[in-house]
Amino acid sequence: MTISNTNKRVRKYPLELLWNSPAFRMIGDIYYVGDKYVSSHLITSEKGHILIDTCMPSTGPLILKGVVDIGFNPKDIEYILITQAHIDHLGSTKLLAKETGAKICIGEADREAAEKGSTTKMGLMGYETFKVDLPLVDGDKIIVGDKELHVYHTPGHTPGCCSLGFHVIYQNREYNGFIFGGAGLNVFEKENLERGIYGGTPQDFKQTLDRLEGLEIDVWLGSHPEDNGTFEKHKLLKREDQPNPYIDLVGWKNFIRKIRQNLQQFL
Ligand SMILES: [Zn+2]
Repeated sequence: MTISNTNKRVRKYPLELLWNSPAFRMIGDIYYVGDKYVSSHLITSEKGHILIDTCMPSTGPLILKGVVDIGFNPKDIEYILITQAHIDHLGSTKLLAKETGAKICIGEADREAAEKGSTTKMGLMGYETFKVDLPLVDGDKIIVGDKELHVYHTPGHTPGCCSLGFHVIYQNREYNGFIFGGAGLNVFEKENLERGIYGGTPQDFKQTLDRLEGLEIDVWLGSHPEDNGTFEKHKLLKREDQPNPYIDLVGWKNFIRKIRQNLQQFL
């Protein structure tokens, strides 16, 4: 999360104007339903859907509207998967749990942080706490209809941070899809450590990168839209003569390499 960067802007402009984004289809059965600052993705199937992350507390209504706008019923969301216990990724979970009836899942090591929420630690204030139905551990599978999400425990950004692997079918071909749930190194910055931000360790982060570097990922989703250029790619998507820009193996490799370089200063 990079809240400190945006707070100055938030004070100046109403949140709605700053963050709202229309929902759209990215590739196959993957849709973007988040805002301009934090991602929320919907993976759909004939038998129900999976929502990944719920953004800030103010974004919940936008996510619900987005799901309806792209032609789905929020009540058909079977699972809400939270990748990390920071307010910008789980802020609207209570509202969305109520509106959808979905089962709520978060990494086991982030469960307490998510459920208690009353700690003074930055990143855990200001949202309604919620009950976790299914704590996630490495190797878990979440299955809805023909969609299967593989849970990777990827600690570092937070202790229980989880990433998800899945298959993407696009134009009769199968691609490896992935979302890295906690790519931000900001939790290790001096200013955030002094504030008592809820975070994991740089050593854990390194191990996570070692593991992720070995994966061949074609379609990677950003935990924040800036990670993978979600909106820039969306503009390219409108050009039908081009391949789907979300198929981006090189971008993934570069993304992980850059994080590894930046991590050095904290090890
Ligand atoms: Zn975060």
